[in-house]
Amino acid sequence: MTPPHAGLSAQEAAARLVRDGPNELPAAGREGALRLLLDVVAEPMFLLLVACGGIYLALGDRQEASMLLGFVLMVIMMTFVQKRRSQAALDALRDLSSPRALVLRDGLAVRVPGKTLVVGDCVLLAEGDRVPADLVLEEASYLTVDESLLTGESLPVLKEACDPGRGEVAEDASSRCFSGSLVTQGTGRGRVVATGPRSALGRIGASLGGIAMDETPIQRETAQVVRRVALMGAALALVLAVGWALSRGDWLTGLLAGLTLAMAILPEELPVVLTLFLGLGAWRLSRERVLTRRIPAVELLGATTLLCVDKTGTLTRNQMAVRQLWADGCGFTLAGEDPKAMAHAFHPVLEYAVLSSHRRAFDPMESAIGAAGQHWLQGSEHLHADWTLVSDYPLSRELLAMSRVWRSPDSRALLVAAKGAPEAVIDLCHLPVDRRDVIQAQVGALAADGLRVLGVARAVFASEPLPPLQHDFDFEFVGLLALEDPVRADVPAAIAECLGAGIRVAMITGDHPATALAIARQAGLDLAGGILTGPELDALDDAALAQRLSHTQVFCRVRPEQKLRLVQAFKARGEVVAMTGDGVNDAPALKAAHIGIAMGGRGTDVAREAADLVLLDDDFGALVTTIRYGRRVFANLRKAITFVLAVHLPIIGLALLPLLTGWPLVLMPAHVLFLQLVIDPACSIVFEAEALEPDAMRQPPRRPDARLFDGALVRLGLAQGVGLLLAVLAAYLLVPAWSATPDAPEVGRTGAFVVLVLGNLALIQANLSWTSGPGAARPRNVAFRWIAGGTLALLALVLTVPPVATLFKLVPLPGASLALCAALALGAWAWCAWRVSRHAPAPRAVPAQSSSS
Ligand code: ADP
Ligand code: MG
Repeated sequence: MTPPHAGLSAQEAAARLVRDGPNELPAAGREGALRLLLDVVAEPMFLLLVACGGIYLALGDRQEASMLLGFVLMVIMMTFVQKRRSQAALDALRDLSSPRALVLRDGLAVRVPGKTLVVGDCVLLAEGDRVPADLVLEEASYLTVDESLLTGESLPVLKEACDPGRGEVAEDASSRCFSGSLVTQGTGRGRVVATGPRSALGRIGASLGGIAMDETPIQRETAQVVRRVALMGAALALVLAVGWALSRGDWLTGLLAGLTLAMAILPEELPVVLTLFLGLGAWRLSRERVLTRRIPAVELLGATTLLCVDKTGTLTRNQMAVRQLWADGCGFTLAGEDPKAMAHAFHPVLEYAVLSSHRRAFDPMESAIGAAGQHWLQGSEHLHADWTLVSDYPLSRELLAMSRVWRSPDSRALLVAAKGAPEAVIDLCHLPVDRRDVIQAQVGALAADGLRVLGVARAVFASEPLPPLQHDFDFEFVGLLALEDPVRADVPAAIAECLGAGIRVAMITGDHPATALAIARQAGLDLAGGILTGPELDALDDAALAQRLSHTQVFCRVRPEQKLRLVQAFKARGEVVAMTGDGVNDAPALKAAHIGIAMGGRGTDVAREAADLVLLDDDFGALVTTIRYGRRVFANLRKAITFVLAVHLPIIGLALLPLLTGWPLVLMPAHVLFLQLVIDPACSIVFEAEALEPDAMRQPPRRPDARLFDGALVRLGLAQGVGLLLAVLAAYLLVPAWSATPDAPEVGRTGAFVVLVLGNLALIQANLSWTSGPGAARPRNVAFRWIAGGTLALLALVLTVPPVATLFKLVPLPGASLALCAALALGAWAWCAWRVSRHAPAPRAVPAQSSSS
């Protein structure tokens, strides 16, 4: 029989999952199909369409009215599909970000999604975990949990293992952990007693928040622009309708002209473009194994001026290995295979390092120590599998050292093993100054190679009760142990790319100054500003700190709590700060940073919940990719907005001109709708797919207050739009002269329509790249080819199939007229491309170096 704490078998767990259902709470706020439908119906575009349809019916034009009805259905379908898709994308992201749980299955610890837990599972808890289900604790070491989600009580509570003698019934709240609470300290092991809706959290009907899509400055800016333009459009449409009615005495046509203009002006694409670009950006990032928890962060990333990263695990691989031991003035390098190569003098260093580590290690450093012990002490009397743990003293912010107290079967006294930062261990051992200096010198030499150095000490204690502090033991110094954690291979190149892109990179670590410097040097960080330690940081006031921050990039012996102060000080200097973190204490800094980034593999649930982005592979390279995407989204948004702006002008012009000139209506509502609902939206997607401009990562970041709609962009859009309008007017006036029936209004209208559609494509081509010129080699934009092909096919359909042409009130054109239209579109393209070449780029942030002097 398997021991009770081996957990369930995978088979049994699967069977129970089928029986009890998944361990999840009903999701909140999922929109139903009907709700989506209502949203669509309430959109102004829809109301305008219905109004137009009503007028056509009043005019007795059944055909036109039914065509509008067709458009109504199309709008509903398109909006519906698009909303459903973005919802599905969000759901997928939510699944990825749901908490995971470490459980014993078939005797092995495996990480599984929290929702697959079943009653009877054996769950391992560690600092930073969100408790995945209701548990009864079977083991607990300094396990402190925050139950505020359930009780509203924000003070963490200490939990204890239940007393097995008292059986299951007598368990009280202090030996239970409830689903949704947070482990703020310590470790534990518990058996699942309730899951999903049957857990304490489920019974009070709570549901955990999902992924937020809150408003950013650019979204507010867009909403404001849309509101203003819509108001302006409504006023203009009213003027047009009344003017037409008064001057020609035809109220219904006047109303129709007014509504057509309103539809032409309404910038309903803008919010759609924005949502779509950010949503697709998040989706593209998820394919790079970066999870977006707050979608607008994607766009803000492009403005990042400072990247604050952890050393361990972000810049380094977090795959530690013990490299050197040091005892009594001699060193030993752990290389080769033969354990006998190690002299006996070094055995105690490894022996006590192992004793001071957790047997079931969470920390890669402790795993490495355990592995080294298993190999180099094999067959010796220094591995004590039969010793029992009496107590332990965890690492604390006051003392970077931890001790564990053991009882051996053949001795009455207790044995205490300690390890920690060398200065902390030296302090515990109360060494004389000369010995202390020798050890410090050795620490410096080891750390200068980029190794993480730990001191090891031991003590004997007569009997329980144990003292409250580690300082109360009489420690004897045993030796030093140095671990290697190499810099990730892709880090130097990624850091060079950041520096080239005008982004400062700062490293924050709890490690020794010399180790920090060595790693920073290997990673290629800027070391000119020297190094700032945690204690120094505490001694500086805000002004002095701001002064240091202008040029310091390496921070060491920093406590996680100090990260918050660093972030705030950097923000006060005007930096846009992206910060990585993984521990419980990192959460406030992650929240405070403009963009908080958590590590998916190593990060705790708390850190992941506080972060805007999660790097699923813990990889620094992915971070730089993410910045690249952020810049791309912003650049492409500006291009798409210019396009939307420019493309509205000819439509507005064609709606207004007939009033001033006495011409018949050039564009009918059907044309406007065809352009606005089918062609324009499809076209703006092309910009989303456009690759980053080649030199974009060699430019400083944009100014954080750079606006999406600035003067340069509006000027560019207007200039391009006016060019397009002139080409369309030229077609309207010139094409009839080449036709057999020059007086029919359909001929000029057809010419104008053809140039409008072709001009649309010309406008896109001209705006695809703003820096490399229209002919330069770029990654192929496949979307553009598809859209261009589709648009041309639609145009051919409208022109050549008589019933469709009649429906659109268009006529087939002779070849010469078509050639003229093509020539005009080409002219419009040349004009637009020339305007692009004269366009001023978005304002850039001032490089950090010059602002500091
Ligand atoms: P980092 O920022 O590199 O992740 P940490 O904050 O995790 O650094 O650790 C800071 C220091 O605390 C380490 O350099 C080490 O001296 C000490 N330390 C960390 N973990 C342990 C441990 N499990 N046992 C003993 N000392 C530790
Ligand atoms: Mg750490």
